[in-house]
This record gives sequence, C-alpha cells and structure tokens, in this order.
Amino acid sequence: MKYLEPTPEYGRTIVESEGLIRIVARNPGPMTYHGTNTWLIDTPEGKVVLDPGPDDPEHLRAVLDACGGGTPAIFVTHWHHDHEAGAATLARMSGATVYGGAHGLDVDTFHAPGLRLVKTPGHSMDHVCLDIGGGRLLSGDHIMGWSTTVVPRSPHGDMRLYLDSLQSVLSAGYEAIFSAHGPTITEPEAFVQGLIRARQRKIQQTRGLLTQDWRSEEALRDELYGAMPDKLRRASAEMLGAMLDELELRGEAERGDRGWRVR
Ligand SMILES: [Zn+2]
Repeated sequence: MKYLEPTPEYGRTIVESEGLIRIVARNPGPMTYHGTNTWLIDTPEGKVVLDPGPDDPEHLRAVLDACGGGTPAIFVTHWHHDHEAGAATLARMSGATVYGGAHGLDVDTFHAPGLRLVKTPGHSMDHVCLDIGGGRLLSGDHIMGWSTTVVPRSPHGDMRLYLDSLQSVLSAGYEAIFSAHGPTITEPEAFVQGLIRARQRKIQQTRGLLTQDWRSEEALRDELYGAMPDKLRRASAEMLGAMLDELELRGEAERGDRGWRVR
C-alpha cells in the first residue's frame, strides 16, 4: 500500500486538518518525493512550525506569511538537511527558538499546550514525532506513505529501535498520520502493520543470503538490492548493515573479518 499524490503547488498553504496547514518545499528528489512538507500547527500562542525544510528563502517566506508574520517556535523532527537546513534562517526572520535537529535546543525543553513529543529513533537517532491531539501524529521521516524509510546502521540509525518505534506508534492507535513527504496516511493501523511486516520480510530475506561460508557486505548488498544508481548505493549499504546488525542481535548472524555468515 502506498499513499501518492500529484505534484502539489509549491509554497501554497494546504489545510490538511483542523488547525493544521501543509506547505510543500521545492526540493523534489529520490529521497524527498515532491519535496519536504513543512507543517504549521495552531497553538494558543500562534502557529508552531515543524520541519522548515531546505534553506529556500521563497519557501521560508511563504511559511512565515502563512503564520501571520511570526511563530512562537520552530521544531525539527531530526537533523537531516531536507528538514533542518532552513531552521536557522527562519529563526532569524521570525526571532523564534529552534528545537530539535543538530543545531536546535534539546527537544525535551520544548513545551506547547496540546502538543506532545514522541521519541522515534531508527531512521536517525534523534528522530521525534509530534502528537497534535485528536488522534493525529506528525511523523517526519519515521513513517511515510510514498516510500520505505531508510534505516541506516549504527551510529546513524538502528533497526531494532526503528521496529520498536513503529510498534509504539501502532499501539497508540492514531487515526491519521501526516509525514514529511507525501500525502496524509488515512489508515495508519493497516499501514504501519504493513510496514512492520515488510521490514521483517526483508530481514528474513537478508538472513536467507547468509551461508556457512563468509560473504562480504558488498556481495550481500548486490544480491539483495541488485543494480542501482550510485546515488542510492550508500543508502543501500547502510540499510543492509542495519539488518545484519539486527540479525546479529537475534543470534542469527555472525560478523567476522571476511564478512558475515549464518549462525
Ligand atoms: Zn531524514
């Protein structure tokens, strides 16, 4: 199951739910779909901004205008550039404080009435989602409707934590999930269950490639993912590594100087 959409109009405000506006940044690509969704969330103090996106003056101006010229806080789901790069500029433009990401304040110091942080490490170690009430979750890159989330190996990410983070979102029983790329996920329960199943299948598929003889990670990667553009090679090496690390944790794979073998 996927949630896809035609290219949205960049810089336009889209009301996705009560008190929730989306503005899509013009940074389309193989990792970002049509671009990063910047979210504006109504609070008693004004509209809080989630994921300002790239450092694009036109986009940031549209965001600030849609906030009515000012915002009480800027919030970043994680440090990746397509989410955080515009945060410092938007902070300068608005005078607001940045929370989260590599350059913001500790997310634990962020408090706004009606909003609750949910820690969801996996895609990145610092990843957080935002619960905005009414059964609604802003999920960043943790859960996306258009594509599988890249889960890199430690220290950049962690497969075990990612699966735990999916489970915790599933248990919370959200009614709608709004991600950083692509349209609203309107049936979160079935969708997140599907994500967990697909990931477990991929981990089992990786295990199936291991033999009694040592195999290098390059050989395993080529077999698992096949030919792929150079751009995605590093990401695929990271994803394979995360699954091998998880299999090691389960006692099903052994790591050695010459690669990996079944245990
Ligand atoms: Zn990311």
